[in-house]
This record gives sequence, C-alpha cells and structure tokens, in this order.
Amino acid sequence: SQYVKFNNVSKYYKMGDQKISALDHIGFEIGQGEFCVIVGPSGAGKTTLLNILGGMDSCDEGSVYLDGREISRLNDRELTSYRRYDVGFVFQFYNLVQNLTALENVELASEICKDPLDAAEVLREVGLGNRMNNFPAQLSGGEQQRVSIARALAKNPKILLCDEPTGALDYITGKNILQLLHDTCRQRNQTVIVITHNQAIVPMADRVIQVKNGTVTDMRLNENPVPIS
Ligand code: ADP
Ligand code: ADP
Repeated sequence: SQYVKFNNVSKYYKMGDQKISALDHIGFEIGQGEFCVIVGPSGAGKTTLLNILGGMDSCDEGSVYLDGREISRLNDRELTSYRRYDVGFVFQFYNLVQNLTALENVELASEICKDPLDAAEVLREVGLGNRMNNFPAQLSGGEQQRVSIARALAKNPKILLCDEPTGALDYITGKNILQLLHDTCRQRNQTVIVITHNQAIVPMADRVIQVKNGTVTDMRLNENPVPIS
C-alpha cells in the first residue's frame, strides 16, 4: 500500500451561506499496480476525490500523496506539470480532437511528455492497430474510448484515473473497456483507479472503495480477484 494515500481529507463547497461537505475527513491507501474501483451513489464525492488526486482540484484539509510526493502541497506551476507528466485521465466523453486521426490524438499527448510510449504501439495494445488513421467521427464510442485510453497510457503516467469511462457506452462495450483497463493494469503493472456504476467489475478489483455522503464507508481488498464473466 501507500503508493496513493489520502489522510483525513476534507473538501467543502460554499452554496450561498451554506457549506456543503463534498469529502468529510476521508482516509485510504492504494498500492502500486493495483486495480482500484470507486463505487457509490451520485453526489457521494467520487469525482471530487478523483479530481483532487489528479491535481485538478484542491482539498481544504488533510493531505494527499502519490508515490511519496505530497500532491496537496504543490503550487499551481507544480500542479500543471504533475497533471501533464504524472497522471493519465480518461473521461466519460472521450475529449478527442475531432480533426486529428486516432494516431495524431495519441501523439499529441505523448509529445509533451518526458518519457512517452510509442503512440502506434499503444494503439495496437488497445486493439486499434487497424484504426490508427481514422478520425474520431469514423470510430464507434467504444473505439473512441480506446483511443482516449491509449492517449492517457502514452504519457506513461504514474497513475491512470478513469471517471465513469463506460458511462456513455452500452453494457457489453462498457464491460470490454473495463476488461481492457484491467488487462493494462496487469500487463504494465499500471496503477488504475476507476469510478463506475458497472457492478460487473467489482469482483475483479484488487480494492473497492465505497463512497457515500462524502465518507468512505467500505474498503475491501479482494484477495482473489476474479475475471469478469
Ligand atoms: P459524485 O462524483 O459521487 O457524483 P461529486 O464529487 O461530483 O459526486 O460531488 C460531491 C458533492 O459536491 C455533491 O453534493 C455535489 O453537488 C457537490 N459539488 C461538486 N462540485 C461542486 C461545485 N463545483 N460547486 C458546488 N458543489 C459541488
Ligand atoms: P496544461 O494547460 O498544462 O496542458 P491541463 O490542466 O490542461 O494542463 O491538463 C494537463 C493534462 O490533463 C492534459 O495533458 C490532459 O491530457 C489532461 N486533461 C485535463 N483536463 C482534461 C479534459 N477536460 N479533457 C481531456 N484531458 C484533460
């Protein structure tokens, strides 16, 4: 454990003169190379948690660490380079550049990185070897999400953060995307955190974190994660 660490983290939002607590003194740890799933109802605080770990939001109390570095103490300039070099993001909507091909979309991300992976090689890894020169509009939703996963992986990030990566996909396509993320985690020893409503993935996770009302209500480490059926 201890690769990722949240220590007593709180996050508040002001709504008029009310203070809403999006995260309420939460703590947990994730080990290097783990496949971790975050579940919980809408409004629970899942995205807030992921955005804080990704350096896209800041916490009001507590401390957050990745690989021994305290993220919660970084200044704006350090956070920008942290997001650029250390974190891969995958979102519900693929955020691809429409007038660039799949290959060019992935190259765009790897070009700004210190130690990028080969863009064509990563596209082959996610099963898009024969789709590299297609534009996003020529690809299915599942294929577009594979491009966005390849784009995140090409950065060779310390951690891959996925916020509802299957939210816009049908059940079967979504399950295949989760399978791909899981295979990537195992083959690359890549630490992956996925927010999802898709319960099919829970048994194959190394760790399940349940978020409810801004607190962590259940943390389960699966000793024997099983493949998706
Ligand atoms: P989840 O991802 O589990 O659906 P979120 O992290 O998006 O939950 O939201 C947690 C809580 O924080 C919710 O009550 C939400 O309304 C509130 N919240 C999130 N972002 C903002 C914001 N920018 N301004 C005000 N409240 C917010
Ligand atoms: P910079 O301005 O230095 O590029 P950003 O905050 O724009 O910093 O984001 C840095 C990295 O985070 C980008 O490489 C991008 O992959 C990822 N990122 C952040 N937000 C988004 C988003 N909404 N859509 C796609 N990628 C994003």
